[in-house]
Amino acid sequence: MNLIFLGAPGAGKGTHAARFAERHKLATVSTGELLRSAIKNGTELGKQANVYMQSGDLVPDELVIGIIKERLSEPDCANGFILDGFPRTIKQAEALKALGVSIDRVLNLHVDDEVIVTRMSGRRVCSECGKTYHVLYTPPKKADGICDDCGASLTIRADDAPETVRERLRVYHEKTAPLIAYYENEGILVTVEGREDPDETSKAVFEALE
Ligand code: ADP
Ligand code: ADP
Ligand code: ZN
Repeated sequence: MNLIFLGAPGAGKGTHAARFAERHKLATVSTGELLRSAIKNGTELGKQANVYMQSGDLVPDELVIGIIKERLSEPDCANGFILDGFPRTIKQAEALKALGVSIDRVLNLHVDDEVIVTRMSGRRVCSECGKTYHVLYTPPKKADGICDDCGASLTIRADDAPETVRERLRVYHEKTAPLIAYYENEGILVTVEGREDPDETSKAVFEALE
């Protein structure tokens, strides 16, 4: 089973992709996480990507397509995967098709912009493993500000500042939202309303895809 999770920044793609992947033993592929780890490791790719990410813009298609090509060739992807945050432009979707990758379903996780702006102010990310939390909705269970999985400290993403979130939403509507019609045309789109409660939303996601 190969899936795409589509949705605005902060809609919950990563959170629900992780839960669905665990349940079905699928690999998760998040271009955002791959890019953040490239930045952290100080690679050339990371340096190039950082400029765009800081301003809330998309990283150029060629760079992201290169990363995805490499990642999908790794062995854990052979038994099925969830793409979280890729494709984000029609050009990326065409590139995926050109790679010969077959996609079974595209989940469109819908959340209104205003909900997102509020939500993002509470997002926290593990500085080591990248696991995502929320101060109100999905706080760490063991200790405040500490990752349950690896014990490292939680940080606020630089691009989660409210002005940058607004810019990312603008970019989403301009460049990514057209993918909804694109995959609807292919007959593989399913839309789920992102609810306030993460567990209720997971349930809706499971029901839509299983
Ligand atoms: P995305 O990958 O789409 O950017 P995330 O999975 O990182 O989104 O979620 C964004 C933030 O919203 C996280 O801090 C997450 O814990 C929080 N959140 C709040 N409510 C929900 C919900 N109903 N479903 C998923 N995430 C939620
Ligand atoms: P979110 O879903 O919360 O927007 P991501 O972690 O998916 O966060 O992405 C963070 C940033 O990484 C994006 O704002 C963008 O700059 C860059 N990025 C991630 N995926 C892509 C992609 N497929 N194409 C272009 N840029 C990307
Ligand atoms: Zn961690």
